[in-house]
Amino acid sequence: MGVDSGLPDFRGSEGFWKAYPALCQQAIPFYEIANPAAFRRHPQLAWGFYGHRLRLYRNTLPHAGFDILRRWGAAKTHGLNVYTSNVDGHFQQAGMQDTHIHECHGSIHYLQCLLPCRDSIWQADPFIPEVDEMQCQLLNAAPTCPHCGGMARPNILMFGDADWLEQRAQQQAARQANWLSRASRPLVIELGAGTAIPSVRNFSHRVMLEYGGRLLRINLRESQVPFAQDVGLAMGALEALTAIQAVLDH
Ligand SMILES: [Zn+2]
Repeated sequence: MGVDSGLPDFRGSEGFWKAYPALCQQAIPFYEIANPAAFRRHPQLAWGFYGHRLRLYRNTLPHAGFDILRRWGAAKTHGLNVYTSNVDGHFQQAGMQDTHIHECHGSIHYLQCLLPCRDSIWQADPFIPEVDEMQCQLLNAAPTCPHCGGMARPNILMFGDADWLEQRAQQQAARQANWLSRASRPLVIELGAGTAIPSVRNFSHRVMLEYGGRLLRINLRESQVPFAQDVGLAMGALEALTAIQAVLDH
């Protein structure tokens, strides 16, 4: 979904380093910068990376596929519920109900203490990062924890991350489980969820097994489906959603 809105693809070092040449020069892969240790060792660099992403996600418009999904949901009795590993907040930005979204890896639009000194998260809205993109360096002051004054970090599950405060995601998960228990015959529309980080696929399969859901798997590279009754489309997300909408309009 993100890639179709023009956001960089972090799968594989090639796409990641193309988006962040300064990290390429220093041979720093995604899992090393997307890591709480990076905020301790290289705070301006780590915040250069996340500050750039925060700006980019704030300033990028979600593509038309989000609106297609929103309208499909609006026409259903129980509506639409989103499970996403994306941290860009684009489902909310596209007008979907915040109470019907589970961001399993957190959101870049929330911050927490780097330590963390307590179980507290807050909105990133007041923080406007200024970033030297060529050097991947934050130029202004990094956001701080309102409780201890130490450095803050995004409330995102990173690599090697024992400090992520997951209470917001847990609340979202509880609301979603409640919704699923009431929904009848759910259809899972899985968009671009690969096998490398399988959290989204695991969720799809759980909805199928526990709630009798059916699966529409839209995936450019890995579109095979587990059961004959399900459908796999080897297409990009925006391309597939647009094509299905065209058929429905016909
Ligand atoms: Zn603190």
